[in-house]
Amino acid sequence: MSIEIENLIKRFGPTTAVNGVSLTIEDGEFFVLLGPSGCGKTTTLRMIAGLELPSEGRISIHGREVTWLEPRHRDIAMAFQDYGLYPHMSVAQNIGFPLKIRGVDRADQDRRVRETAEKMGISRLLERKPAQISGGERQRVSLARALVREPSVFLKDEPLSNLDAKLRAVMRTEIKKLVTNLGITTVYVTHDQIEAMAMADRIGIMNKGDMVQVGYPLEIYDRPANRFVAEFVGSPPMNLIEAECAADRRLTCPLTHLAGSVPETEKARFNGQLAPGAKVTIGIRPEHLVIDAEAGAEGDGATIELIEPLGQQTNVYLATEAGRLISVVDRIHSNVGDKVQLRAVPDQVRLIVG
Ligand code: ATP
Repeated sequence: MSIEIENLIKRFGPTTAVNGVSLTIEDGEFFVLLGPSGCGKTTTLRMIAGLELPSEGRISIHGREVTWLEPRHRDIAMAFQDYGLYPHMSVAQNIGFPLKIRGVDRADQDRRVRETAEKMGISRLLERKPAQISGGERQRVSLARALVREPSVFLKDEPLSNLDAKLRAVMRTEIKKLVTNLGITTVYVTHDQIEAMAMADRIGIMNKGDMVQVGYPLEIYDRPANRFVAEFVGSPPMNLIEAECAADRRLTCPLTHLAGSVPETEKARFNGQLAPGAKVTIGIRPEHLVIDAEAGAEGDGATIELIEPLGQQTNVYLATEAGRLISVVDRIHSNVGDKVQLRAVPDQVRLIVG
């Protein structure tokens, strides 16, 4: 089922939590709402669910307007970060609860609980109480309960935030596999950009109530629409260097070699906005910033400030005339304090305007 959101606004007194969001989520799509705390993700999700009514705007699910409908008339299921399991009920009773309150007959309830538990790999836990299972298992039970009645839309608010890092990584793969197999349209809220990149078909990034960019994960990573997205997505973050347009669309900044590496195709994307005197930002991902330690090498001068050897990669912090930059390399043979030259991988330098 597709979800269409038109100019959605939500005000809480003087606070505008969601500021005119328009968006179409395709049938069967895994859509992630990503952004920092307080940006309006949860409020957007709650309006799709019907738990919050918008101040303005429209929401349609599969072509039917649902803006003012009660949650139970929307054919959606929700899972929250705090699981919301009933402690006095067994796992089986928890999973079956949505079927019971809908009056599904007992034999059918049992069958669907067993089938869903099987899919989630929790069959052996059915007789236990929530207090007798681990956090990750509780998470699965909560997902099973949301999925047992096969909703057409699945909404999830930070469902993995209570889990440790390793279990989060396992669960994110499991959730993605499960809902993709079931073909359920999913809207998933997180502030974790790695989770978003790993799980999403498409990501919508929110900041201060606005939807600032919607795109495929690598599209957002490769071409962030503004400074906020460039800083929010990617770890270590993108290097951002302030520059100014001179005549002939040349860019000036203290790092002349890097400024000269901005490809013409990139400048062409901002044709009208590169008048002399315009302020722009040059963006270079850490993996595209090349360190050359050879004496006399071409590039912009820098001094190594700090080296973080993480094993699979090494983060190198560099002091330059345009502030601190970060390079990510496999291994480095230089030391802190060494003078080096910086270049960029051709065609990988970006311009950010606005
Ligand atoms: P988090 O990741 O911290 O949950 P979020 O991006 O989901 O953040 P929202 O919960 O949607 O953000 O909140 C957006 C803004 O609206 C915040 O400034 C918040 O304080 C405000 N807000 C949310 N709910 C209410 C409410 N019921 N009454 C007043 N203000 C609210």
